Amino acid sequence: MRRVVCPGSFDPVTNGHIDIIGRAARQYDEVVAAVLTNVNKRGLFSVEEKVDMLRECTADVGNITISQFSGLLVDFCRENDIGAIIRSLRSVSDFDYELQIAQMNYRLAGVETLFMTANPQYSFLSSSLVREIAQYGGDVSSLVTPYVEQRLRDKYESRES
Ligand code: ADP
Repeated sequence: MRRVVCPGSFDPVTNGHIDIIGRAARQYDEVVAAVLTNVNKRGLFSVEEKVDMLRECTADVGNITISQFSGLLVDFCRENDIGAIIRSLRSVSDFDYELQIAQMNYRLAGVETLFMTANPQYSFLSSSLVREIAQYGGDVSSLVTPYVEQRLRDKYESRES
């Protein structure tokens, strides 16, 4: 059984994430999309909300499970019998950052990191840009699913009131 993890902040999940997770699911037996719980960095959405949005966006694919983790990703991999980490590369700057982490994870626990190139259609897309556009009422309908779009609207409306 070849189980891999797609880790991330997913704050919120975008069409770029869904593209990578879906492509990984066609290559491996099981993909675990794992939301990082970072106690030092409060996101826009809670971990529960991020997990809920990921579940909704990937509901039609059978071999994807959604999880969450805190602490070291390599420990999460060991505890869940995960053989490799999938990360995606949008740009050279992603590569610079990812290479160092991948080498450290291998050094720490012998866990491999496999890179997938981002779909050029989404290579400009990041959760932070989506948050910024949505915050000012911009149109994010081509960047996230309708469900996530609604969650963003709810979030910013509740903040205003
Ligand atoms: P992190 O904070 O760990 O980078 P993100 O949620 O930003 O978490 O990203 C999780 C993973 O999804 C990373 O491998 C990242 O490169 C990838 N990713 C983010 N945005 C896109 C996109 N638009 N297209 C493809 N992959 C993406």
